[in-house]
Amino acid sequence: MPPRQVVNINHLNHVFGKGELRKPVLFDVDLNIYAGEIVIMTGPSGSGKTTLLTLIGGLRSVQSGSVKILGQELYGASKAELVQVRNQIGFIFQSHNLLSCLTVEQNVRMSLRLHRDIDFDRRTQITTHILEEVGLGDRLNFYPDSLSGGQQQRVAIARALVSKPQLVLADEPTAALDSKSGRNIVEIMQQLAKEQGCTILLVTHDNRILDIADRIVHMEDGRLAKDMALVDH
Ligand code: ADP
Ligand code: MG
Repeated sequence: MPPRQVVNINHLNHVFGKGELRKPVLFDVDLNIYAGEIVIMTGPSGSGKTTLLTLIGGLRSVQSGSVKILGQELYGASKAELVQVRNQIGFIFQSHNLLSCLTVEQNVRMSLRLHRDIDFDRRTQITTHILEEVGLGDRLNFYPDSLSGGQQQRVAIARALVSKPQLVLADEPTAALDSKSGRNIVEIMQQLAKEQGCTILLVTHDNRILDIADRIVHMEDGRLAKDMALVDH
């Protein structure tokens, strides 16, 4: 059996605004990502990386071209179909978007709310386990504001991965961290992804983490350069 395509994008274009404010941002983008791959996307600020990630995540409607995610075509997809796709994706953003009124444990547990088949005790178990894996087993009842930036980002990773999503989209997840914590974060992501067999698309400017990728793609002025083979280290 050929490897399964998790992301299959063909001739994708995207334009913001209308009339005088019309601004084309993505041009004829093609991208294929297969199950279990870790792909890093680099490229200058303003080149369209976040726009592409939000289209892949079903957070923005596809205007032209084809975006198939986990077998679902997003062009012309209904709201329900978009929600269905979003629920299979773990999102990690540059700013972690944790809810400050919930504890670390509650923030992560929230990601399991759609899994009606998992009972309360099992949720506690799964949540505790993933927080231990990201090194926060002793912070379960802390509130996000009392944690460091690196710790908050680790909570965000636990939250994105706890439901074992098939696809993880990470937009500059290490941008707010010093290089050591940044490295630590992506190594945790890589390890959890390998354990769970999920696929990762990670946007970064950080040259020090490129080696975790199976493949690197480069965005420049809204165009995606042909897939580059990973350079030898
Ligand atoms: P990157 O993530 O590579 O920095 P973005 O995808 O955020 O790039 O942005 C690409 C271009 O689209 C930029 O010129 C940005 O100003 C523009 N842009 C992004 N979001 C919007 C929006 N909601 N409305 C209008 N223009 C936008
Ligand atoms: Mg961006």
